[in-house]
Amino acid sequence: MPALHTIVLASRNAGKRVEFQQILGAQFSIVTLPDDAPEVVEDRETFHGNALKKASEIAVHLARPTLADDSGLVVPALGGHPGVRSARFAGPGASDDENTDKLLADMKDVRDRRAYFICTLALCSAEGALLHAAEGRCHGVITESRRGDLGFGYDPVFLPDGFSKTMAELTPDEKNAISHRGFAAKTLSAWLAAR
Ligand code: IMP
Repeated sequence: MPALHTIVLASRNAGKRVEFQQILGAQFSIVTLPDDAPEVVEDRETFHGNALKKASEIAVHLARPTLADDSGLVVPALGGHPGVRSARFAGPGASDDENTDKLLADMKDVRDRRAYFICTLALCSAEGALLHAAEGRCHGVITESRRGDLGFGYDPVFLPDGFSKTMAELTPDEKNAISHRGFAAKTLSAWLAAR
């Protein structure tokens, strides 16, 4: 298998880059997307499908190994929604607040409030072939109302199992230690270290 040193992260989110860099370690250099990289439409019906599409298209475009992630919130009692549509649950361009309002409204009479965050990662070779896929989950329940103002997305209404604080009341370090993204990145890191 070819040596991997520099890995493009198919994201413009500087915070995500730092998180992946810290977990994957100094033997890798994680760089974000160049400004002129094409937008990839996330139109697949699975998290893995979207991560693979993003990683593969960007890898081929840049001719460099590329890592992509796709994540979201799954509520089994809502048939898996918001799922792959987590970012646009209340409609195209919806804000985090609008998506969270819709989730609370849809769950008004729902008793089974279990939910999980999921993050899937796809690492592709410079030719666009899948080298490895990893997944991480964080289980919890959806609260009846918002608490906390840290984090983003559905964090104010997500109470992780074993915690009395919502994700939006946890410090970034506390959240990273239990997050779906952290677990997925650690799984990928273990695979990279063993290859
Ligand atoms: P992305 O794949 O990281 O862009 O995430 C897609 C959407 O899933 C976000 O816009 C959020 O609505 C939701 N989401 C993903 N991860 C988290 C999280 O850690 N906390 C809260 N919401 C999240």
